[in-house]
Amino acid sequence: MRAKIINLGKRCNNNCFFCFNRGKEFEEDFKKLSGEISKGRRQGCEQIIFSGQEPTLYGKLEELVILARNAGYKAIQIVSNARMFFYKDFAERIIDAGMTELLAPLHSHQERTHDRTTGVSGSFAQAVGGLLNVRELSESRFPYKGVSVSLGTVVTRENVEELASIVRFCQKLKIKQLFFIKENFLKEEIAAPVFLKHLKEASEAARKAGLRLFTSGYGREELGKLAEIRYEDRIAGGKVIKPL
Ligand code: SF4
Repeated sequence: MRAKIINLGKRCNNNCFFCFNRGKEFEEDFKKLSGEISKGRRQGCEQIIFSGQEPTLYGKLEELVILARNAGYKAIQIVSNARMFFYKDFAERIIDAGMTELLAPLHSHQERTHDRTTGVSGSFAQAVGGLLNVRELSESRFPYKGVSVSLGTVVTRENVEELASIVRFCQKLKIKQLFFIKENFLKEEIAAPVFLKHLKEASEAARKAGLRLFTSGYGREELGKLAEIRYEDRIAGGKVIKPL
């Protein structure tokens, strides 16, 4: 499915240490964004991805999602740190407007590690609360909408040993898709054997949990003979790790 990516601006309520947009602040013009939504449909896109930095801070996000729905996009994805979805009325409005997919970062199964990564105390609790709200609302209030939730973990030295635990945590949250992301702006290097060891454990945990595990940004050579990789065209740049 062809995707139209719309960046709503540069503003975020997190402050992740690896974010290359830290400190930037501007919002795109609503009229310009509306035009981009229509243009995507004319180009034949069936999926739209609202991104940013943090698109939920954009004041007219709900209106944009409604515009996308009315324009005929089959899939409306929001890439968000999920903190705003902690507020149930906000989550309800955005799902009702037409969001069909949420892609959110979760850098650990532990509050301590996640909050240290985002630089915001309480961000883990809010993000997990937001994810639970979306799942719960999608099951109870909007069962016909079936909003899918995927998570992404930027692999750092802080969390590389937690990869399998993060998979098990996703299972508890009933998440079906998880990405392990290589962030090229990270100055730190994680030794390949260390990453592969923990990726292998995570892959096994994912197989048991029935969770689809992707890597993003890692080359075939980095993943070595660990797993057979195939490309998934629905999510740009993602690669599926087939269960070992
Ligand atoms: S949540 Fe995303 S956009 Fe916000 S600071 Fe972290 S990496 Fe940057």
